[in-house]
Amino acid sequence: MQHYSNLNLKLLIAMKKKNLIIICIDGGRLDRVLKSNVFKHLAAKSVFFPQNITYAPYTNSAIHALISGSYGRRNGCFSYWHSIKFKNFEFKTLTEYLHDVGYYTYADIHSDLILPDSGFDEFEIFDESLVDLKQRHSNLFEKMKARNEDDQNFFLYLHYAGIHTGIMNSVLNVYNNYNKEYFENRKLNEKRYDDLFRTAEEYIEMIEKKITDFNLWKDSIVLITSDHGISVGEKFGERAYGAFCYDYTIKTFAYYISSDFEPKEIQEQVRHIDFMPTILDQLNIELDENFKPLDGVSLIPLINGKSFDEKIAYTETGNPLKSNAPPKKPNTKSVRTSKWKLIYNEYNNTKELYNLEKDPIETNNLINSGLEIEEFLWNEFLKIQNSI
Ligand SMILES: [Zn+2]
Repeated sequence: MQHYSNLNLKLLIAMKKKNLIIICIDGGRLDRVLKSNVFKHLAAKSVFFPQNITYAPYTNSAIHALISGSYGRRNGCFSYWHSIKFKNFEFKTLTEYLHDVGYYTYADIHSDLILPDSGFDEFEIFDESLVDLKQRHSNLFEKMKARNEDDQNFFLYLHYAGIHTGIMNSVLNVYNNYNKEYFENRKLNEKRYDDLFRTAEEYIEMIEKKITDFNLWKDSIVLITSDHGISVGEKFGERAYGAFCYDYTIKTFAYYISSDFEPKEIQEQVRHIDFMPTILDQLNIELDENFKPLDGVSLIPLINGKSFDEKIAYTETGNPLKSNAPPKKPNTKSVRTSKWKLIYNEYNNTKELYNLEKDPIETNNLINSGLEIEEFLWNEFLKIQNSI
């Protein structure tokens, strides 16, 4: 091997790996995905996680957690305002890991606050109100395929913003979180969302076709997820997302597609922060010990049916309450297992406890009813709060 130059060796090592394609369906709701024929088609080739919990029910902190494998409370991106406070020197991102081993890295997003630009060769921003994402991203696949044929691996991060754009125009800019008219029109809210969701389905069909046409399934890991769900009027006080920690926004989905794994559905709760270590594990890329340890864990043992202890999922957000902008620090926090959730509303020092199996829409608050699980979850909450 000594006749290879360092660069050639780097390319040779990179060549053996799979490409990575991450697609975020911004605001994609789990219940819609479960009913969708397009997404069922996707599930037939995926390791499907129908219980994937976001760190933050809003875009930037959710994606910073996904890409760094760590919660915003440690990585610095813990509010709408904190993308620029992401601790780049302490948390190495998935992009940087892949770039270091020779991947060509490309992000196409609607705002530069969504994820750290570090490690990206191309970091493209589109205007969400003008763009045709089906066309634009279809073209990107051609570009990536050309790279791949030159024996370079690629990492492509695509953000499907269509649902977000529609909700911004017709909900966020029209109503506030306490607008009765919005909450009294549940049917209209559902229909508005469903119409937007259909555009996401068309987008996914395009993606599937492109990956098939370019014969990229075999050589790529494809992760399709959403950053958070969106309210259709379930709870007064949250017209869209980002105010509460209820399951209609924090519980999302993940389709993990790789020729290394047979399709299956994983019932255990997993978290956005687990996918970065999972991808590195699959690609045999070791964690860099010069950086802080991750909050997430590799899901490869779980996918392979090995013993796996389900982890606590931590979520936090800044409820704007009566103000018209979110606060600079989270004030609403939750810890969750696949069966129970404890919410702590820090702004008024109240707690909520829900039995998610019996009460998935979280209407029957069981706090202070003497259940042992309450103390257990509170202790888990404190452990996470005290971790550094
Ligand atoms: Zn979002």
